[in-house]
Formats: sequence, structure tokens, C-alpha cells
Amino acid sequence: MSGLLDELYRLQERIRFVQSRGRERDTVPAELTEVDTAFREKVEAVQRLKQRLLEAEVEHRRASAELADHQEKQKKYQAQLRNVQSSREYSAVLNEMDGVEKQIRTAEDKVLTLEEEMETSRADLKKREESLPRETQEHEEKMKDWRAAQRAINEELKSAQAEIADLESRVRPRELAEFHRLLEKKGGVAVARVVSSSCSACHVKVRPAAMQSLKTGNEIIYCDSCRRILYYDPHNP
Ligand SMILES: [Zn+2]
Repeated sequence: MSGLLDELYRLQERIRFVQSRGRERDTVPAELTEVDTAFREKVEAVQRLKQRLLEAEVEHRRASAELADHQEKQKKYQAQLRNVQSSREYSAVLNEMDGVEKQIRTAEDKVLTLEEEMETSRADLKKREESLPRETQEHEEKMKDWRAAQRAINEELKSAQAEIADLESRVRPRELAEFHRLLEKKGGVAVARVVSSSCSACHVKVRPAAMQSLKTGNEIIYCDSCRRILYYDPHNP
């Protein structure tokens, strides 16, 4: 039993270690946050520009097609105008012409605006893409020490994870499942050490009878108060 509890306690310690070191690895240190944010913004700006250009190209194709439709209609009305039979028919066709001319002007404006936007965006994108490799290199240079620290953490995590797998393979599936359930429910502490006859998680005194069972170590004892598994280490009471 004490073997099992030693293993569960070590397992919990390793799981917590992996979680906190993993967070450290994924958190850019304060002194680098600004540098990192500025660089990310540059990369994102390039992505946004590319995306916007694609959209503008689609809008441009659509607006050009609309313009061509309106111009087609305009030609049709011009032909009709040459063949009108009455003044009433003449003013009706003229009316249609007015309408289509307005549509043509609107469509032309739209096409022009999009073309200007695309031209500006392309120039901006070109400039940004040209300087990005150098900026990336400079950025990585600034991040060099941090990247090395991240790699070192990854090594630590790898060996901790191997130990976790090994410990888990030695615990029976039912006990392991119960342990994980508690770990989840109890904020990452499923197994609480008993220190000076108290549960170290909730600080409630452990009953003398339970203390006795813990010392003989032949069953799993839960804390009366917080329901965590109690762990008594005779070398560290
Ligand atoms: Zn407790």
C-alpha cells in the first residue's frame, strides 16, 4: 500500500511539474513580450494584407462584371433609341438610359476605388514581405536565449512524461482512474501529505484511528474533510 501511495504522490508531483513547466515554456518572459508582440503584429499585418487583397480581387472582378452588364444594357438602349416609333416610347427609353448611366458611374467608381486600394496594398505588401526575412532573423536573435530555455524545458518535460507513463503503467487502472478523477476535481491535488497529523491540503486534523491505519499502511484513507487521499511519509512526518 505504501508503495502505491508513494507512486501516486510521485505521479501527482510529476503531473504538476509538467503543467507548471509547460506553462512557463509557453509564456514569453516579460522583458520579451513587447518585442514579441511587435514582431507578431508585423507577421499578422502581412497575413491580413494578403487576405484583404484576395477579397479586393474578388470584389473587383464582380464590380467589373457588373459594369460590363450595365454597358451592355446601355448599348441595347442606344440601339432602341434609333428605332423608336413615338415620342412616348422615346422618353421611356431615355429614362432607362438615365438609370443605366447612373449605374455605370457607380460601378466605375467602385472599380476605380478597388483598383487604387489594390495598388496601394500590393506596394505595402511588397515592402513588408521584403523586410520580413530580415526582421524574422533579428527577432530570432533577440529570442535566442529564450528559445534555448524553451528547448531545455522541453527536455525536462520529455523525461517527466516518460516517468509519468512508467508510474501510470504500475498503478491499477481503477485506482488510476480514481486518482485522475480526484486530481481533476480537487484542483490538481488528489493526494495530500499528512503533516503534523493534519491534512496538508485542508489543514484539518486526521483522526487518531485514521492516523493508525495510515501508519500501518494497509488501506487507502481519505481526508474526512476534503476527501483527498491521505499520504503519510514516515521519513517526513
Ligand atoms: Zn483534507
